[in-house]
Amino acid sequence: MEKIKMTTPLVEMDGDEMTRILWKIIKDELLLPFIDLKTEYYDLGLEYRNETDDKVTFESAYATKKYGVAVKCATITPNGARMSEYNLKEMWKSPNGTIRAILDGTVFRTPITVKGIEPCVRNWTKPITIARHAYGDVYKASEMKIPGPGKCELVYTAEDGTEVRELIHDFTGAGVIQGQHNLDSSIGSFARSCFNYALDTRQDLWFATKDTISKKYDHTFKDIFQEIYDVEYDAKFKEAGIEYFYTLIDDAVARVMKAEGGFIWACKNYDGDVMSDMVSSAFGSLAMMTSVLVSPEGYYEYEAAHGTVQRHYYKHLKGEETSTNSVATIFAWTGALRKRGELDGLGDLCRFADKLEQACLGTIESGKMTKDLALITTIENPTVLNSQEFIKAIRQALEEIL
Ligand code: NAP
Ligand code: MG
Repeated sequence: MEKIKMTTPLVEMDGDEMTRILWKIIKDELLLPFIDLKTEYYDLGLEYRNETDDKVTFESAYATKKYGVAVKCATITPNGARMSEYNLKEMWKSPNGTIRAILDGTVFRTPITVKGIEPCVRNWTKPITIARHAYGDVYKASEMKIPGPGKCELVYTAEDGTEVRELIHDFTGAGVIQGQHNLDSSIGSFARSCFNYALDTRQDLWFATKDTISKKYDHTFKDIFQEIYDVEYDAKFKEAGIEYFYTLIDDAVARVMKAEGGFIWACKNYDGDVMSDMVSSAFGSLAMMTSVLVSPEGYYEYEAAHGTVQRHYYKHLKGEETSTNSVATIFAWTGALRKRGELDGLGDLCRFADKLEQACLGTIESGKMTKDLALITTIENPTVLNSQEFIKAIRQALEEIL
């Protein structure tokens, strides 16, 4: 069989630990035999980040701006323990944080649904994608403990020195206060990323805040979304046959529980933090969850939602067998290859991505899976495979489909 051609390289961001091991097997078994794979390789493994003073992370993000599509392996975010483990020069920042800041993107997380792994919420028959705003609010707040009686105010001092004040509270006893902010520019980027992603995946978009109570703060989010929608997206949504729907956050939560899925739920930063963990655990497993960073300019970075699976890696180093699920990492590749195919008009590449996904799902549905899924599947007597065997089983299924 002739290998599928590519015209533009994917930005390939390699990573750490168990996912780095899987990364290589996935390429060798599932990609290189079938595709004339073109990538521009960046090694975001912690050793090389340390060697380059983290420059490699920045370069990989700039390359994503140049080419438009990246695929990323999970990476270690250093902490105290990693400083000594890797003998680091500095506690380098989270690569995901660095890349997100450069691309100014929003992260969309979608469960990979498969027969045999059933969501806890029975009526969720289609995936629910959470889009979380990644800037500001309580994550960039200033807080104070108020020791006793006294007046607290919000004060805005304009560049010309004029002041605007708003009373927060006249304390008669001890308490706490908090000041939050967000930026119109960041909210606008968030909105555009969400509208673009909805068009891209042809799904309805839901957005919710508490604008009835927060008449200026949350209302600004609602207004910016609506203005951008009306001017830039209304016609496109109608043409695509999809809907933008705004409601109150408590109403949204109630509707989500009764819905069948198949839509994108855009959340403010805190709501997204909380709701994404609820949605992902209800759908089954972090190992069955994809994640894509979409910038308002339309750059895409695909990855798995889980980390480097450190515990499995240490077993692997001791020569013990591991049963690590590679589905989310494979779907990061298929997402990126399909997007590259769409942008470059390469139908074969898009079809290959579809078939590889089909092979993953077919393998699990036939009862062959890794241990994490075997523990939660409704399929009787599943065959538990090790990390390598599972990828080989997918290879076999793929060859049958091709
Ligand atoms: P993790 O890698 O997500 O793994 C936590 C646990 O979840 C594992 O020990 C395993 O449970 C289970 N698990 C996760 N993915 C799995 C898979 N593919 N197959 C089977 N089981 C899976 O989180 P962590 O161990 O807390 O973090 C390790 C490193 O990842 C940290 O250094 C962190 O900084 C980094 N991290 C990176 C990213 C990213 O790059 N996007 C995201 C999160 C964390 P059992 O041990 O019970 O089998
Ligand atoms: Mg969280």
